[in-house]
Amino acid sequence: MFVLGIETSCDETAAAIVKDGREVLSNIVYSQVEIHTSFGGVVPEIASRKHVEKISYAVEAALNQANMEIDKIDAIAATYGPGLVGSLLVGLSFAKALSYAKKIPFVAVNHIEGHIYANFITYPELKPPLVVLVVSGGHTNLIVLEDFDKYEVVGKTRDDAAGEAFDKIARYLGLGYPGGPAIDRVSKFGDEEKYKYPVAAVEGYNFSFSGLKSAVINHVHTLKQKKENFKVEDIAASFQKAVVDTLVEKTVKLSLETNIKRVAIAGGVAANSKLREKLVERCTQHQIELYVPDFKYCTDNAAMVASAGYFRLVKGQTSSYSINAIPYIGLVSKKE
Ligand code: ATP
Ligand code: MG
Ligand code: FE
Repeated sequence: MFVLGIETSCDETAAAIVKDGREVLSNIVYSQVEIHTSFGGVVPEIASRKHVEKISYAVEAALNQANMEIDKIDAIAATYGPGLVGSLLVGLSFAKALSYAKKIPFVAVNHIEGHIYANFITYPELKPPLVVLVVSGGHTNLIVLEDFDKYEVVGKTRDDAAGEAFDKIARYLGLGYPGGPAIDRVSKFGDEEKYKYPVAAVEGYNFSFSGLKSAVINHVHTLKQKKENFKVEDIAASFQKAVVDTLVEKTVKLSLETNIKRVAIAGGVAANSKLREKLVERCTQHQIELYVPDFKYCTDNAAMVASAGYFRLVKGQTSSYSINAIPYIGLVSKKE
């Protein structure tokens, strides 16, 4: 079965065609990052306008790259939330209209669930159960994926998401936007042991990064006031270590406690090289199988949306056109 995926939740206009939920035939991502960089972050109104300009071209390009006619498509899957409401509406409305006009079933997909499916694309044999660490720009969740489309959310952030912390610290350090890749890059030239930043001890599998963010900012502020020499690379590396350590420890703990010795990661921060390195190390120690999606499927793309759509479609779960964009839906446990 061929699914056309459409993703416009933030600042990427993306369309992709995926066969049987696993095989990517095309993956088009028109990023607006250059436009938003000058503002230091995504400007919602500009993002929606750009999506309107690009969406038909993205879908056309996805069909062309896959060498496929729209009539061969078995379902159209689009993100309905979470994300920026104006941005979401562009892809969602486009998908509904195309589905109605061409009489192709429509499947609405939760963007965060979509991120998880990047793993099923990268590993064609991979199946649940899995422990999944979702670390994206707006979300941080630890989940137990019991089956496709069936999961329990066991942990979340109480304040900032991991990606958000990366972006805010990068901005403060003058490293630009998006911050995650910048911190990742400069940290390679820094000493991660130089400063010990505290991470709030939060109960269970929950996280908190807001205190860490303040600690780093206050520290840099003090260094500047005292006119002490410091390297931005050391600050970035020490901050990154604090985030990565807490993410990795809780993920490994959940795997050991549930005895599901298979861990996957998802979302933009899953592209972080230190996170990958540390997970490899800790998972090897505990004989846990580790699954890490290809870089291009970690950040926003439509292939992951098409894959998530496929696994709903095969369960007969198509969506009604009455479904609307939901900006703050997040990830909540899902039982059949
Ligand atoms: P959400 O998926 O929660 O709605 P989003 O779609 O904006 O948010 P993603 O596309 O999953 O987020 O990821 C973007 C985030 O990933 C940004 O915060 C970015 O800084 C972060 N990121 C990307 N690459 C890296 C990296 N190498 N290291 C750390 N963070 C990274
Ligand atoms: Mg983006
Ligand atoms: Fe995302």
